[in-house]
Amino acid sequence: MDFKKALELYNEKKRLMRAYGHMMGVMSYDSETAAPKNSVNGRADTYAVMSEITYKLRVNEESEKVLEVLYENKESLDKITRKEVELARESIEKMKKIPMEEIVAFSKISAEAQNAWVEAKNNSDYSIFEPYLEKIVAFNRRTASLVAPEKDPYDYLLDNFEKGLTSEQLDNFFSKIRSALVPLIHRIIEKGDVIRTDFMSRNCPIEKQREFSDYLMQVLKINRDDCTIGETEHPFTTNFNKHDVRITTHYHEDLLVSNMYSVIHEGGHALYELNTGDDLYGSELDNGTSMGIHEAQSRFYENIIGRSEAFVSLIFPKVKKLFPEQFKDVSEREFYLAVNKAEPSLIRTEADELTYSLHIMVRYELEKKMIRGEIAVKDIPSEWNRLYKEYLGVDVPDDKHGVLQDMHWSGGMLGYFPSYALGSAYGAQIVESMKKDLDIEKLVRENRIDRITEWLTERIYKYGKLIDPAEAIQNACGAEFDPDFYINYLTEKYSKIYGL
Ligand code: ZN
Repeated sequence: MDFKKALELYNEKKRLMRAYGHMMGVMSYDSETAAPKNSVNGRADTYAVMSEITYKLRVNEESEKVLEVLYENKESLDKITRKEVELARESIEKMKKIPMEEIVAFSKISAEAQNAWVEAKNNSDYSIFEPYLEKIVAFNRRTASLVAPEKDPYDYLLDNFEKGLTSEQLDNFFSKIRSALVPLIHRIIEKGDVIRTDFMSRNCPIEKQREFSDYLMQVLKINRDDCTIGETEHPFTTNFNKHDVRITTHYHEDLLVSNMYSVIHEGGHALYELNTGDDLYGSELDNGTSMGIHEAQSRFYENIIGRSEAFVSLIFPKVKKLFPEQFKDVSEREFYLAVNKAEPSLIRTEADELTYSLHIMVRYELEKKMIRGEIAVKDIPSEWNRLYKEYLGVDVPDDKHGVLQDMHWSGGMLGYFPSYALGSAYGAQIVESMKKDLDIEKLVRENRIDRITEWLTERIYKYGKLIDPAEAIQNACGAEFDPDFYINYLTEKYSKIYGL
């Protein structure tokens, strides 16, 4: 096969793969937003068929030959195709070590597992979900042993979400932040209940909250012709290309800020996808480089920007306008303090910035043990509850508010959670570097968040998958990742809030 022919076949197959990927993505979005409960079996069958088709498209002699020829001639490829070929070779190397039948069977299981998890959560009954989690853990352990038998199985999974990340690095990272943050949290608890939050649970009509979401999208300067907001119990972002990004949020009448920070968090994910380079459109590189870098964006907008004094000052007049009765006796300062109140709690997604990483540590410890076979799946709830008591000092009343609160494991995602803590830490380092070029506080007060997004676009977003996570940090910070920025950021912010 000559180079020209190889390139032609490659492009043809890429178009096909992207189209299938797009279709499966829309189906998955539909399953989360619109499909009725009993659609699960039909969908599971379709997933199985689609995953067989895409497996065969990727893993076959011709495709491997094509990639080999292109790789041998990589100096003749443009930089985008060259990177695509490198990534495709890596992914096929992994994929072909896993028998197709197992991948197909797993795609069916994960569709069913999501339904089982919803039911288990609604009934607060772990035993409904347990057999599915058992299969998910077994599949992940098996693929790890097939693809990378020389590696620690959990490291193999981590690497899938954050290239190069190991449990040894995470052990160091978490022990460092734990020893710095736990004493700080204790000092705050000792201060007692000094922040007023009585107004946080006042009823805010959902119609008005939807208006507020639209306003927040405007503040983030997100073009609604490229990005919609759907409604789901668990907010998420999905993307098909830079002109079709979907975020979702949830509305609770008595939890205005829950929707507010969901929109900003998912909006942060969306901004990354919406600002990938035009030159990447239609390529395999037109999305975020890793989950850690992605969570760095979402948590940057949610917390570093969204929970800053400047941001609260920008949006509070709108809060007052939309909810005049509910906030008539609340000052801007009180609102700022309330959205930053640090308090050990049960639910990760509602946790404050300071205690958030402790929630991640619980999941990290459990995943590591599950994947290494050091704990049985049936013992996860009791271990979960024990760790919540140990790390956060809270008693878990039931599985719904404990082990069943997150959807990730039901989707087969083991090794994802550390991305949240890592992303938060990346964000703290990025903002220090950004401050050298921008007056962030002033820009936020003047409703110019687009300037901040531009800065990130130039250093991270426009490159999509062309750069790996370490390069993204290097581009933005001019240095390697350093968790001390995160510790300093939290220590400084919370010492100020609580007058320590
Ligand atoms: Zn996120």
